[in-house]
Amino acid sequence: MNVIQYPQKNEWSKFIKRPAIKKEKLTEIIAGIFSQVEKNGDQALINFNKKFDGAETKNIKVSEEEITYAEEQIRNDLKSAIQEAKENITKFHASQIPGVEKIETTEGVFCWRENRPIDKVGIYIPGGTAPLFSTVLMLAIPAQLAGCKEIILCTPPDTQGNIHPAILFTAKLCGVTEIFKVGGAQAVAAMALGTESIPNVYKIFGPGNQYVVAAKEFAQNYNVAIDMPAGPSEVLVIADEQAIPEFCAADLLSQAEHGSDSQVVFLSTDEKIFNETIRETENQLAALPRNELAKEALKNSHFILLNTIDDTLAFSNLYAPEHLILAIKDSENFIAKIQNAGSVFLGNFSCESAGDYASGTNHTLPTNGFAKNYSGVSLDSFVKKITFQNLSEEGLRNLGKTIETMAEAEGLFAHRNAVSIRLKIENEKF
Ligand code: NAD
Repeated sequence: MNVIQYPQKNEWSKFIKRPAIKKEKLTEIIAGIFSQVEKNGDQALINFNKKFDGAETKNIKVSEEEITYAEEQIRNDLKSAIQEAKENITKFHASQIPGVEKIETTEGVFCWRENRPIDKVGIYIPGGTAPLFSTVLMLAIPAQLAGCKEIILCTPPDTQGNIHPAILFTAKLCGVTEIFKVGGAQAVAAMALGTESIPNVYKIFGPGNQYVVAAKEFAQNYNVAIDMPAGPSEVLVIADEQAIPEFCAADLLSQAEHGSDSQVVFLSTDEKIFNETIRETENQLAALPRNELAKEALKNSHFILLNTIDDTLAFSNLYAPEHLILAIKDSENFIAKIQNAGSVFLGNFSCESAGDYASGTNHTLPTNGFAKNYSGVSLDSFVKKITFQNLSEEGLRNLGKTIETMAEAEGLFAHRNAVSIRLKIENEKF
């Protein structure tokens, strides 16, 4: 880990860079994978399963029997936990369903907007190093609430060619329509291009490693929309003198254990809390089963002492973290100063794991500084918004002159005519 004390502001930009594979190399790999999937369809996916995941998969589509068998494998306490998380995530996302409001902009001119679900969506569930069934909840619940007709799920198989039972159980619980055993960039390519088994979709969702993120970006060349760049996880923790080092360390490690390319940042204004958190992070790391991954991630991570809470917030806005934890006194008072962050956790008891699993908010969030310009997944991500308008005769008479004047000034006489012809005919009637 990099320990930095009171850096000058002009040095901050050095510490906001994320660890990343060189973009040119990545694009070449992804283009190759898309080309194989385009040429060889399912067979390419079967070959990639062998190559990247060491899995033999004759059939890439998960059968009903496999889903039923998976249900029997899940312990009851896990089923109840998934059910409780589902209820909270449903409550929070259902509250995002908007009502329709008609606005009369000029007398007789009515405008409004209505949501329509995206008919076919594809959700990617990471499975390389951990079976993220929690991500199934985060993507399939809003998809179902929005009314998406087809919800296709892709996730990498294990070396036996199976999908983790909790992913299958959660997918069935949340209305996923078809599940496929395919991971990484090839899964994204399949959902963008379509193969014999996998239907192409209109929008691809979900987090993943750098191959998955780069493939989603590439998929946009094929008229497919994506949710956002949601790559290797990050957390930035801000701590003052009342923070609890054990809690801060646990939160930092909870993101570091995601993968070697994750990054965590710890900012503090208090030297005692700073040093204790560093010590505590090392202690807790040793006891983690995934400590090799977390150790690698910590090599890319920064522990920085700063002078004031305002400085820590300014640094955080520059970094634009996926997750931001404010372990500071009266944390709610600082909300207005947060400009760039995916999801924010306030106070000593709002651990990031709560949002990762069960509090209700979505855990699919922008990484790599994209919290500057993207939001996390929400119900909105699964709908298109169509605008409507209805002008009465009186409405067109009220607004007609304005439209004619503007159209004429742009030299678009057919546009002007579309108004004039109506007003002329209406005037002749009277
Ligand atoms: P993954 O499913 O994203 O990736 C596994 C796939 O990567 C494999 O199936 C394989 O196809 C591909 N792959 C591996 N090595 C390759 C290579 N050399 N060339 C081409 N393809 C290769 O699973 P993962 O690796 O465990 O990563 C999950 C990621 O998701 C982590 O980085 C985690 O931090 C991130 N995540 C992000 C969010 C978010 O909201 N941003 C949420 C959860 C998880």
